[in-house]
Amino acid sequence: MTKRGSNDRKAKARRIAKARGIRVTEAHSLLLQAKNRNDPPPADAPAGKPAATGETHELRIHRTAADGTAEVLDGDAAARAVWSDGTGALTAGCRCGWVNPHAGPRFPGLPAPHGVEPNEQKHWRWYQLVAWAEHAGDAEGEPSSDEFVQDPSVTVNDVTRQVIFDLRLLLHHAQHDREAVATAYESIETLLRNARVSVAHERARSSVHQPDADRAEQDGAAVVSGQIPVSLSVLLRRTDSGRSGGYWELLAVEFAAAELRRLVLQESRRPVPTVSDGPA
Ligand SMILES: [Zn+2]
Repeated sequence: MTKRGSNDRKAKARRIAKARGIRVTEAHSLLLQAKNRNDPPPADAPAGKPAATGETHELRIHRTAADGTAEVLDGDAAARAVWSDGTGALTAGCRCGWVNPHAGPRFPGLPAPHGVEPNEQKHWRWYQLVAWAEHAGDAEGEPSSDEFVQDPSVTVNDVTRQVIFDLRLLLHHAQHDREAVATAYESIETLLRNARVSVAHERARSSVHQPDADRAEQDGAAVVSGQIPVSLSVLLRRTDSGRSGGYWELLAVEFAAAELRRLVLQESRRPVPTVSDGPA
């Protein structure tokens, strides 16, 4: 990718972030994903050249080829590698020289029935982007996820997106602390299932909301133990009454947590739970 292309994408990411009220690094990650969808890879993707250090924060991928050769990919080649890799032999880095210090999840070599990629693999790919985006956001002094989600003008939909983004970061420790990470995802699933059922009941009753002390306590305990991101507590708070919707958002996060848990445990896909206990 040319320097100009890189700058264009950064400018575009800033515009999208401003227009949609999302973080710049998240907009940038979305663009890196969209780029891959719209632009099939050429026969030979050129390897990137290391840029001057300290210049900008752009995704860089370090990949080990089948013959053991180390490759460094920048720009479009890096984005393509993330979305097409089938080996798991890559690590996210940045042009500034940063390399993801975490092992992250192992690549899920799951079958792709009918050519549809299992969601666990999608999360593995997203993990590479969010690990870089976390670094770039910090390095560029962007508001943290915790600050961002506290802004009441951010929509519930965008808080939801941020929660899933943050949940993927728990994958940092997926290999060396497998059981703890899987348990964290499982408790998040439970928390969301309870919240979702409670939202469904609130809606069904159309009653004035009574704060649920038990749930608040449960949320608080999970936050204290560091198991759930701040963004998730904000989502639970904002969807608490059911008046502002939230059922489908909670369901989306619950499913993502289940997929992430399966990615950690490298389980094969199980049938998804039914949603018949909620409003249509
Ligand atoms: Zn960087």
